[in-house]
Amino acid sequence: MNTKELMQKYVLPTYARADVEFVSGNNATLLDANGKKYIDFTSGIGVASVGHGNKKMNEAICEQIANITHISNLYYIAPQAKAAQKIVEASGYDMQCFFGNSGAEANEGAIKIARKWGERDGQIKRYKIITLQQSFHGRTITTVKATGQESMHNYFGPFPDGFVYANDISSVEALLDDHTAAVMIELVQGEGGVQPQDKAEVQALEKLLKDRGVLLIVDEVQTGAYRTGEFTASQVYEINPDIITLAKGVGGGVPVGVVMTSLKDVFSAGDHGSTFGGNYLSCASVCAVVDTLDECKKSGKLDETIAYFNQKLQSFYEANTHLFTQKVGIGMMCGLRVKDGDTLSNIINRSRENGVMVLKAGRNTLRFLPPLTITKEEIDEGFNNLYNAVTSI
Ligand SMILES: *Cc1c(COP(=O)(O)O)cnc(C)c1O
Repeated sequence: MNTKELMQKYVLPTYARADVEFVSGNNATLLDANGKKYIDFTSGIGVASVGHGNKKMNEAICEQIANITHISNLYYIAPQAKAAQKIVEASGYDMQCFFGNSGAEANEGAIKIARKWGERDGQIKRYKIITLQQSFHGRTITTVKATGQESMHNYFGPFPDGFVYANDISSVEALLDDHTAAVMIELVQGEGGVQPQDKAEVQALEKLLKDRGVLLIVDEVQTGAYRTGEFTASQVYEINPDIITLAKGVGGGVPVGVVMTSLKDVFSAGDHGSTFGGNYLSCASVCAVVDTLDECKKSGKLDETIAYFNQKLQSFYEANTHLFTQKVGIGMMCGLRVKDGDTLSNIINRSRENGVMVLKAGRNTLRFLPPLTITKEEIDEGFNNLYNAVTSI
C-alpha cells in the first residue's frame, strides 16, 4: 500500500488532505514524492519558522539526542533553562515559562493560571474567561470551548463552564463582572481569517483590565516567535499582558508549547505538569530556533524579508482585484480576502498544481505564513507560480 492507502486504512479521518506527499525540504522549497518542486508560503501552519532542513536546528537536535533525549521534570534540565531564558529575553517581559507540547496545551496552562489566580484568598472566586468571536484557541475540550466559533461546539459536551464570548474588543467591557478572571485574545486572529486587532483598542482594553483587576492573556501560538516582526505581537502592540502563550513557530517543527507569565507565584509544585514538556529534544530545538531568529532580527534581515514579501503581495493583490478585495495581516502573517469561498478553494488548488503552497483562513481568506528565513529568490519564484495559478481563474 502507498502512503495514502495506508493512512486511509490506519489513520482516523480528521483531516481533508490534499493528494501530495512531501519527502524533503530546503528552507522554503519542498519536493514531493514525484520529484515536483514547491515554494512553501505556509511553513506547515506557521511552524517551520526557520525553514525546512535547517542546518543549525538539525545539528542542535542531533547533538542533543546523541547525549540525552528525555528525563522527567523531576530534575534540572539545561536546554529547558536556556530555552526559557532565550524566550524571556527575546520578549523583554519579566516572566517565567512553563513548557508543554502544543498550542492548546499552552492555552490550558494559561487558563489554569488565571483560574488559580482567581481563587486567591479573600477574593470573590473569579473563573470566567472572556474570548472573542471568530477566535481559535485549540482542540482540547476546554480550548475548543474557549474558541469563539459556535460550529466547533456542536459535539463533545458537556464543556467546562465559564467561557463567555465578546463580539469584539469594544464589547468586552459590558461582559466583565465580579467573576471574570481573564480576557484571552489573539492580536491577529489566525484561523479566524488573519484579522489584526486595532492597536489603540487593544491598549484601551489593557488599561481597562488593569483597572478592573482582570488578567489579559494573549494567545500568541500563531503570532509569536517573530511571525509579526517582533518576538511577540504583544511587543508590536506595545502592551504588557499577564500571560502569553506560544507554540507553532517557536520549536521550528518539534512539538512545543509555552505559557509564560509575570504571575510567577500562582503555581506551586504539583499544580501543573507535563511528561514530555520541556525535554532535552524540544528545548534544544527551541534554543537553536530562537537564536536563529534573534540573529535574523538583529541583522535587519527579518525586516527586509517582511518588507520584500509584503511588497510582492501588494503587487499581486493590485494585479488581481477581480479576485481579491483586501490585503490584511502584520509582518509575515498575511492574507488576501477572496471574493468568495469557491474561488478561494480554486486558488489554493491551482497554486499547489503550479508549485506554490498557500493556506485558507476563515471563510474567505487566502493566508500566507512563509518561513521567516525565506530568500528573495524563493519569494520571487513563489509569486511567479502564484501569478500562473490565477491567470485562468
Ligand atoms: C494553532 C493554534 C492553536 C492550537 O495549537 P495546537 O498546537 O494545534 O494545539 C491555538 N491558538 C492559536 C492562535 C493557534 O493558531
